[in-house]
Amino acid sequence: MSALSDNEIRERLISYTCQRNCCGVAEQSGICCTLGDKDWILGPIEDHAEVLKRLEDRLGRPVPFVEVFIDYEEGRALFPDKSSWQNPAHYPAMRVVPDAISRYSCAFLKGGKCSIHEIKPTICASFLCEYLQKVVRSVVGS
Ligand code: SF4
Ligand code: SF4
Repeated sequence: MSALSDNEIRERLISYTCQRNCCGVAEQSGICCTLGDKDWILGPIEDHAEVLKRLEDRLGRPVPFVEVFIDYEEGRALFPDKSSWQNPAHYPAMRVVPDAISRYSCAFLKGGKCSIHEIKPTICASFLCEYLQKVVRSVVGS
């Protein structure tokens, strides 16, 4: 049996933490995919064209931009009190929808988990919140 590489340990740690111990809270997940009271925006999605293509391949139908993303004109009007939504450099953003828990979350967050995990945008795949950065550093050092 071969030992796991540092990278494999890192990926497992990230997956476990985000899905089972998000921000150090047992069984919590996906807080960075929700707005709540935070001044927070899910963008910019720089690879939006590639994300749409992957979604279309998965769903087998055309996927309109507005089904997945929010542009500056819509976003700035949607959240006039959140400064992150007033900055055009943060767009396009992932579409958020009202929910019972955090009031708004990514349209693809289902049951606290990303429903498009395998094809999600690069920014989502690479994002590590401060808590997760500390966890990773404490175990694999980077
Ligand atoms: S990156 Fe942080 S906030 Fe986002 S799901 Fe992982 S632990 Fe939670
Ligand atoms: S696409 Fe997935 S990882 Fe990205 S914000 Fe939405 S639910 Fe979160």
